[in-house]
Amino acid sequence: MNKVVWDKDINGVLLQSLMTKDTLGVSPRPVFFEELDLLGLDKLGWKYPRCHEPLMWACNKQYFYRGEMLFEAKGANIYDAATVVPAEGVKPMSLKPVDMKKMLERNREAMFLLESEAIEFIRDTYETYTRASRAVESNVIDYEALAARQQKKTKQKMAVVKEDCDSFDIMLADEAELKGKKVLHTTKVDVFLASFSGGKDSQVVLDLCTRALPPSAFQVIYSDTGYELPSSLKLYEQVKEHYGKLYPDLKFSTARNHEQVLNYWDKIGTPSDTHRWCCSIMKTAPLYNTFKQHDTNLQNRILTFDGVRSEESQKRSGYQRIGKGKHIGIYNAHPILDWNTTEIMLYLFKQSLHINQSYRDGKARVGCIICPFSTAWDDMIVQKTYPKELAPFVERIEKWARSSGIKDTKDFLKDRRWKLKILGNKVKPHVELVQKGQTLSATISHPSTPLQTWIQTIGDVSMNGGVGELRFDGKVYSFKIIQGKKDVIDFTIDIANNTKLLYFIKRIINKSAYCVKCEVCTAECPTGALDILSDNIINKDLCIKCHKCLEFHEQGCIAADSVRMVNFVTKKMNAKLAAYKKFGLREEWVSEYFASPEDFWDANYLGTAMVDSAKRWFKDAGVIDDKNNITAFGQLLHELYMDNPDLVWELLLVGLSYNSFIVNWFVNHVSLNQRFDRKTLLDELIEIPLEASNTTRDNALIAIMDMFDKSPLGETMGLATPEDKIFIRKEYTDSSNAAIAYCIYRYADNLGVKTLRVSDFYSGECENGPLQILGVTKGKFEKALREINSSKNRVLIAELSMGLDHITLRDDVSSENVIQLMLGL
Ligand code: SF4
Ligand code: SF4
Repeated sequence: MNKVVWDKDINGVLLQSLMTKDTLGVSPRPVFFEELDLLGLDKLGWKYPRCHEPLMWACNKQYFYRGEMLFEAKGANIYDAATVVPAEGVKPMSLKPVDMKKMLERNREAMFLLESEAIEFIRDTYETYTRASRAVESNVIDYEALAARQQKKTKQKMAVVKEDCDSFDIMLADEAELKGKKVLHTTKVDVFLASFSGGKDSQVVLDLCTRALPPSAFQVIYSDTGYELPSSLKLYEQVKEHYGKLYPDLKFSTARNHEQVLNYWDKIGTPSDTHRWCCSIMKTAPLYNTFKQHDTNLQNRILTFDGVRSEESQKRSGYQRIGKGKHIGIYNAHPILDWNTTEIMLYLFKQSLHINQSYRDGKARVGCIICPFSTAWDDMIVQKTYPKELAPFVERIEKWARSSGIKDTKDFLKDRRWKLKILGNKVKPHVELVQKGQTLSATISHPSTPLQTWIQTIGDVSMNGGVGELRFDGKVYSFKIIQGKKDVIDFTIDIANNTKLLYFIKRIINKSAYCVKCEVCTAECPTGALDILSDNIINKDLCIKCHKCLEFHEQGCIAADSVRMVNFVTKKMNAKLAAYKKFGLREEWVSEYFASPEDFWDANYLGTAMVDSAKRWFKDAGVIDDKNNITAFGQLLHELYMDNPDLVWELLLVGLSYNSFIVNWFVNHVSLNQRFDRKTLLDELIEIPLEASNTTRDNALIAIMDMFDKSPLGETMGLATPEDKIFIRKEYTDSSNAAIAYCIYRYADNLGVKTLRVSDFYSGECENGPLQILGVTKGKFEKALREINSSKNRVLIAELSMGLDHITLRDDVSSENVIQLMLGL
């Protein structure tokens, strides 16, 4: 990945291989006139041409022209436009477009190296896997099968490797890694794909593939989720036409689920942060089901060149460049893994490729019309550009939110709180399971698919009427399936303490009860035996009892998992809120604990009622683990407490803000100078979509008010200063730089980023920043950053002059060691 600096005289950007003092912390994206119109700049007196070229550059929501930050966009959401806040002294002005010719010329060499490397990678990957596949096809040798046999024999992990002389070999996986060998993930690929999503990254990969491979060597597939942005659908048509003219042999196809996404919303509820079923159901499963062999329904082995980039998330930064995909027989190669946003856009400009209109409108990422992972900014753009397409989703969220007891549905949508909870889940649990001794009984009301079908995936089955026998693990198990009245079935099986069998039985019960025919497990079946849309569902002759369709998902079924998520969130939250038992974390507990952590729990220092509460608080703060043993973080606080109890309380507060729902809600909900009492807090807490009773919520509030009263958090640190029978949240002016640095690193670790901006923390959208947790104002925060930046133990770089507000974190520092580094421990 190149570094980026401004190229001021041409209003452009310049790629550089080395980091310098001018290197930008965030790779900028180009800004076009459509986005400026959307921000209403034309009405504010700014002048600019309606041209094809970009006019400005944006790093997050800051807008730069010739390297100077001119304004910021703040406060956008689905209902409200962004407010343009000019930088100090900036007045409306005339903007000239980027000098594209010069910019492309100046970046020519850097881009040449970048794309040559990616083309070489695509070519090499294709040739390596094609050669291995040909060897298998012509019966020369199947190294994969050989490695599997050897592995079984030696019980050591084997790998197929490519040798320098272009032949293959097998060796111990550890040895292959040690010798830096190129390991093959499979030796048989039936189809090479370039997957197209309508986004800029997949567009670049597709173009690179056309330059690296002959058009007959791969196919292009567009995963149309059914709620694509209209701009992406249009781009796909443009792309198809463009390459269709250049390469008539290049094959294009589209993959879609057989149902509309809103039908799934109606059946299994909204996707959420924790249960994003939409990607599997609407995108990946249809894609790979498309490539089942027509005659045998057998899953083809597919190697997909995709647009995954490490800049997008920390998880992705750990990706290998080639790896196994989400479904069986699918492998993914990432040619542009290390490219940044600026490089991607420069490539599109250089190759004169179409640009998705939604990028021109201001979206940094294009995806579906609505998505739990997008931002309030994305909602604003989609609402302004495609309100008709967005409306049915918004209507459902509003309706279901109202029926969940949420009063202000507008705020609920504005704050994107809908992504925290599954709404509108119509699949009600209608399974009763009872295990008595060795017999498991289940009553399933209104099963959606027959249990006698699914039981065949566990083992061989013989049935006569409602009585049957299942062969599993070399034994025979008797079962009964009795069809009762009103579409209720009773199932009993003697499981003879076989826990593995119990595990599979629960999964087939889930599938029978909750299946909505989403087709995800069809994609999992390696033999083509499972076709959820066919009458039989399982082809007995093809099923090899591999159990992949049962094991692919936690509950053996995505729809069943939707029910589990509802119960899981509810139970976990109820249990956590109730565990405080009206007691807050008290100063005397903390001081006793850190005086002697090893004796604290044995010394009966606390009465029985308080022990559970204290354990919950210490766990939520990260001081003890699930077995009540002190953690590394707890040990650090123990060492600090004697000399620096204030710092310890600051760090405890940061920990609690991440792990305790009620503290997290309080710090992010109650702003500085806000007046409150328990009753006003309860009125607002009741609006949060939790299935916890009002009493449980109130008890949790009693607990934190107790904590504020009996610890430095309340008055000393300003979270709740008593004033005329109510409380006021005040600024905390004494926060230590170590706690601020810890807070920044926790925030960055959580997001998986190493570069941040001061304005991110003070944007009004930030949660768990130094303002929210520690009550640190922007001025104090910048002062702390400057001090940390110039201290001996410099744990971050802060660039705070000339309109910049960038914070660059060190690669070798994380929340786990930042305190030790700051304090020189
Ligand atoms: S994945 Fe296919 S072959 Fe394997 S158990 Fe399920 S239906 Fe049978
Ligand atoms: S059983 Fe399979 S096809 Fe049916 S809903 Fe569950 S995952 Fe989807």
